[in-house]
Amino acid sequence: MEFEHVSLPQRVLFATGGARGNLAGQIETLGARRVMVIAGEGERDLARTVADGLPVVRWHHEVVMHVPVEVAERAREIAAADGVDALVCIGGGSTTGLAKAVALTSGLPIVAVPTTYAGSEATNVWGMTEGARKTTGVDDKVLPRAIVYDASLMLTLPVELSVASGLNALAHCVDSMWAPRADPIDRALAAEGIRALRIGLPLVVKEPTGAEGREHALYGAYLSARAFASAGSGLHHKICHVLGGMFNLPHAQTHAVVLPYVLAFNAPYADDARRLIAAAFDVSAEPGSASDPDGAVTGLNNLRAQLNAPRSLRDLGMPEDGIAAAAEAVLAAVPPRNPRPVTRENITELLHAAWSGTEGTDAR
Ligand code: NAD
Repeated sequence: MEFEHVSLPQRVLFATGGARGNLAGQIETLGARRVMVIAGEGERDLARTVADGLPVVRWHHEVVMHVPVEVAERAREIAAADGVDALVCIGGGSTTGLAKAVALTSGLPIVAVPTTYAGSEATNVWGMTEGARKTTGVDDKVLPRAIVYDASLMLTLPVELSVASGLNALAHCVDSMWAPRADPIDRALAAEGIRALRIGLPLVVKEPTGAEGREHALYGAYLSARAFASAGSGLHHKICHVLGGMFNLPHAQTHAVVLPYVLAFNAPYADDARRLIAAAFDVSAEPGSASDPDGAVTGLNNLRAQLNAPRSLRDLGMPEDGIAAAAEAVLAAVPPRNPRPVTRENITELLHAAWSGTEGTDAR
């Protein structure tokens, strides 16, 4: 065994009902006196409650999915004009993304309070869009200094969005098994992430206002992001990146739809990953399922059935005649070390299956 692994420096505080106290503690640790709180319109009230008592000089609510450059520019100007010395973001990946865009040019420290399972808070990856073009980059300046996790903040996240967001986290885990920099530590984190999400998400669906499922799912989402930050983007993320950019599809739902197809595509060619995934799903293979040895795909599909997961790219609004162009774009972006060789034919087949929602396993 030989590998190099980088762990990102970050404090993680996890306590249901503890967000307000833990956030105040982190702001004090930073010695911040002029805080900018970033939270979308929908999370305005939540933010007021969680950040109550902090030295806030600016409440900023202009949050837009995929962080358009002009939205980032406005937030940066406001932060500079107000002499802000720390950023607090309370919300999903779009909100964390805006705080990262401000930190990228200002170097301001971020304390993140996530309210979805997107996981952006645990990565040093930033993303912005200009027109239809999404740019991403890696910079340690954008890594939040601390994450304040509080499962009680997720009780209002609608079930449908919770499922999509949770499967987005699951996709970080699965893709981290074979992404370009995947190492044994990433795989261990990802396997434990799958286990936690597999336990948590059905509980969230059964009892959306119960803390237990939310806690497991949130813990799994954190692990998934740790693994993803280290392993990098695998084939699944490259496909979703292409589809999201070309057809303006919703982020979490796109991941939720595409994941079973990529797993079925790669699993027969990735023995270790497949066994780890199957074990994390706690399934034993049906005898004779040649295209799904160990049952990794079965495990995912069983979970998706329990969650009533989104099924097809067609349902998300992707046009069928976009498949050929998407296949070309994915071909040009196939990450190194993908276990299965990707060809125009097999990627077109994968995209078509995901478009029409014909779930199933892929035979060699
Ligand atoms: P999002 O942040 O756009 O939120 C989706 C919706 O959920 C919004 O309408 C929001 O108001 C609502 N919401 C959030 N929390 C809620 C709560 N507790 N209760 C009720 N409603 C709530 O979506 P997302 O899926 O969290 O994030 C997607 C974005 O994050 C994408 O732009 C993606 O590229 C980015 N992302 C980045 C990284 C990274 O490492 N940089 C990782 C993952 C995702």
